[in-house]
Amino acid sequence: MMPADCFWLMPAMEALRKAHQAGRLGQALLIHADPGCGGELLAEWATQLVLCRQDPAPCGECIDCRRCAAAQHPDLFAVQPIGESKQIRVTEVRDFCAELSLTSHGGGYRAGVIAPADSLNVAAANSLLKTLEEPPPRTLIVLVAATPSRLPATVRSRCMRLRVTAPGRTATFAWLADHGRTGDLAAAADILGDAPLALLAADLAEIGRVRAESVRALEEIERGRADPSQLAERWSREDYALRLACIEAWLGARIRLSARLSNGNIARQFGLLDAVRELRREIDTPLNKSVALERWLWRLAGAETERRLRHG
Ligand SMILES: [Zn+2]
Repeated sequence: MMPADCFWLMPAMEALRKAHQAGRLGQALLIHADPGCGGELLAEWATQLVLCRQDPAPCGECIDCRRCAAAQHPDLFAVQPIGESKQIRVTEVRDFCAELSLTSHGGGYRAGVIAPADSLNVAAANSLLKTLEEPPPRTLIVLVAATPSRLPATVRSRCMRLRVTAPGRTATFAWLADHGRTGDLAAAADILGDAPLALLAADLAEIGRVRAESVRALEEIERGRADPSQLAERWSREDYALRLACIEAWLGARIRLSARLSNGNIARQFGLLDAVRELRREIDTPLNKSVALERWLWRLAGAETERRLRHG
């Protein structure tokens, strides 16, 4: 996928191009992008904007543009989380900042991308701040984050902000059809949101299967016929993020139904919904997923079932 194929990125691309032409681009960008909406692609495009030597830049075709797209440009650096922790640590950021401070190979810009920037840990963010305060000349640092509020305010305030969201369900589905995507998109969008790139890449049949299986399991838990501990243990190991999305979609549909029929304990269902949303927000933190999910499943099962299952 090329950034130029994603029409909803165009306004941000145009703003960046104008800022660059006018010499107002600044040295740090913070792209606040919903997951699956192309924040990384926009970051790639921004690096092409400063590294491409054609006019108008980026041409998308020259050696600089092609190397950027392949993440193989000698003046382009990237930091991502490594290992189990899913955090970006201070040593990676120090190396990244040191590389950016060297003279560029091409005699022009050097560019760096940090994605997802919301996984910078505190020490890493503080280390980055030093470079953001006194960036080397002709450098561009691009941060991509789904939850920028996780970054220190001092880091955010040094960056030019860009917001990337999905273009809305109708436009998303039309774009997916243009890209040959067929199948039950509405059902997948209930789980993945209206994120165009996530829906383009998704295995719709697999999502349908996991969703149906999840709903069956949740109903069993609710009837006191399945053990929350075992289920939490299994779900925390496989498809955890997808399971939480299925739970949220299931509860959302039930709340809508209860509201229409004016029955069911809506307050209780909203409490469960808030709690599962909290689990989704904490998905990239080192929280014990099995324990957290088990607590939620016991809440779904209810106090009566808990007494029975735990004490025989
Ligand atoms: Zn180019």
